[in-house]
Amino acid sequence: MPDAHVIAGDCTTTYDGDRAFEKRGRVVCVRKPDDTVLVHDASGYRPVAWLTRPDAAVVAGDPPTLEARDGDARLRVLFHAVSVDARVPVSAAGEPVGLCPDCDGALVQRSGTLACTDCEREHGLPSGATVLDETCDCGLPRIAVTRGERFEVCADRGCDPLDPKIDRVFDRVFDCPDCGDDLRLVRAGGLFLGCDSYPDCEVAFSLPEREHVGHCDCGLPTFAASDGPRCLDADCSSP
Ligand SMILES: [Zn+2]
Ligand SMILES: [Zn+2]
Ligand SMILES: [Zn+2]
Ligand SMILES: [Zn+2]
Repeated sequence: MPDAHVIAGDCTTTYDGDRAFEKRGRVVCVRKPDDTVLVHDASGYRPVAWLTRPDAAVVAGDPPTLEARDGDARLRVLFHAVSVDARVPVSAAGEPVGLCPDCDGALVQRSGTLACTDCEREHGLPSGATVLDETCDCGLPRIAVTRGERFEVCADRGCDPLDPKIDRVFDRVFDCPDCGDDLRLVRAGGLFLGCDSYPDCEVAFSLPEREHVGHCDCGLPTFAASDGPRCLDADCSSP
């Protein structure tokens, strides 16, 4: 578990960068696991000084001095007297979605990941995924993802892989409107339906994160949109 370094006491904070200042006072200084440094005084939510994810941050000496450097910016927090100097375990904080199958810690969802607050367990979620109120046999929550159809799978890709399910619905199911060859499901940063004759035929369409509702006259699938079914080919003229 990563930890944050918390030092509180009387200090002089010096900042050199796009502007320069020196401040003296009793503060709480926090260095996060990503080296972000925050110096808080007695009022308001805003730190009196900070550096976000600097190139380096080190604490040395007794009483301690924290030095952080990011490009030309330097932040120095020199303590004269210390009342607290502790390392505390910290984790991502997010919406609670259940318990960790490994350690019974809380599982939280934050910016596209599912992470345990007590151990290293972490799973990246597919974009647009919804965490369901339903648990897989492995103990993790199940998730819903829409890729042409709504799929429900385990949050652990290794436990209940999503990819083969999408393949069954889209791989070699539709024909290329230009050459008639199969459209393959291609994974390249996102999901695409691309012609099997590539590079001779360069037809490729990005697969929308919506439900597949029918067929266009051109042969391609149509997808639900707010104004009715829309052809996979945004330039198609025969809806
Ligand atoms: Zn855990
Ligand atoms: Zn599972
Ligand atoms: Zn083709
Ligand atoms: Zn069409």
